[in-house]
Amino acid sequence: MDDLRWSPAEADFLERTREFAQVQVAPRASSWVRDRQSCSDLLPAASRVGILGMRVPIEMGGLGLSLRCQMEALRLLAQADFGVAMALINTHNVAEQVSRLATPEVRDRLLPGLLAGHDSGCTAITEIEAGSDVASIQTRAIPDSTGWQINGTKAWVINAQYATKIIVYAQTSLERGTGGIAAFLIEADQAGFRRRDDSPDPGISSMGVGGLVLEGYACPTECLIAGPGLAMRDILGAINVARIYVAAMCCGMVEDCLQRAADYGMSRSTFGARLHDHQGWRWTLADAEIELDALRLMIARASQRADHGQDIRSEAARAKVFATRMASRHIPALMHAVGAQAFSEAVPFARHLLAAQVAGLVDGSTEMLLERISRDLRP
Ligand SMILES: Cc1cc2nc3c(=O)[nH]c(=O)nc-3n(C[C@H](O)[C@H](O)[C@H](O)COP(=O)(O)OP(=O)(O)OC[C@H]3O[C@@H](n4cnc5c(N)ncnc54)[C@H](O)[C@@H]3O)c2cc1C
Repeated sequence: MDDLRWSPAEADFLERTREFAQVQVAPRASSWVRDRQSCSDLLPAASRVGILGMRVPIEMGGLGLSLRCQMEALRLLAQADFGVAMALINTHNVAEQVSRLATPEVRDRLLPGLLAGHDSGCTAITEIEAGSDVASIQTRAIPDSTGWQINGTKAWVINAQYATKIIVYAQTSLERGTGGIAAFLIEADQAGFRRRDDSPDPGISSMGVGGLVLEGYACPTECLIAGPGLAMRDILGAINVARIYVAAMCCGMVEDCLQRAADYGMSRSTFGARLHDHQGWRWTLADAEIELDALRLMIARASQRADHGQDIRSEAARAKVFATRMASRHIPALMHAVGAQAFSEAVPFARHLLAAQVAGLVDGSTEMLLERISRDLRP
């Protein structure tokens, strides 16, 4: 394993992120659930911390940080709220893709607004009838004299309730399957775009999940972000990174539950002794800590490989499967250790538990990842 210290710039960024998570996110997290609201008003403050440009090159206005540092920032954010971590990283990801793939004109026009948090982004692949089976998406892009005509409906997209710059994946050639899928940069203030009102469970409101409809949307040629053949390769690269950060977010949520349970065990007494002094009680905490330790190593290994430009497909998949399963097991165990107090609105156990379920689906469900890992085990 490499030297795991942070550079001064990274340490400074992580300190600002920690403060942002503790001061601006954690105290408001339960109100987003109660009021069924997204966290969109956090964007300008997140921009000031640098979160929206974490991996955008410095010369383009970002921070140009390592992937390992990004994972650490997302772990800290998810300790406060998984939904906020997901919402902010989805705007960041659009900025990062624009910095890497857009023409200089499109990049210069769109990147400053995304980095400043005046604009927000989302990535729309999933449709009502197409989730894991990406090749079956029905959104069509047909070339015309000025670019592309796009028609289709997207569902279950983080930030779709308010995002202004949207990367939509659409099929250009039904016969080519995933090879025909291309990525287009869509602007929400253009004709032919509207949002669908399909807000999901209030427990995940801060993610701003929603749906989008494109009806004869005229996408100019320069807003083709990745053409057929390239788009799937690019999104799979991005999804491999996403699998590591979802693992880091699960790590953050379990850490938060563990810390809260440990604190509770020192303040609550039963049968004349603190909970911590009952051997059977404290083993629940030890079990969680052992698997957190293993997860931290898996995240560090996968992100370091990515920072060195190495293949991370298997490492990212392993980390995410391990993380989501351990979160789905340990969050309820730690809730149990806290008893009835774990169900109070003032503590985040139930919110983290629902988020762990979401983590098992987004960016490759557990079953899809098991397929990925087992493919490498064929002799
Ligand atoms: C909160 C939330 C946020 C999301 N954000 C986004 C977003 O920003 N952008 C976006 O494009 N999408 C997003 N998604 C969609 C997400 O990527 C999909 O939910 C995921 O791809 C699974 O698709 P599905 O839900 O349609 O399940 P399905 O594909 O219908 O699968 C249902 C279940 O069957 C399992 N399954 C499917 N096929 C097989 C098989 N061959 N073998 C074994 N098991 C199988 C799956 O693992 C899953 O458990 C989001 C989803 C949620 C819940």
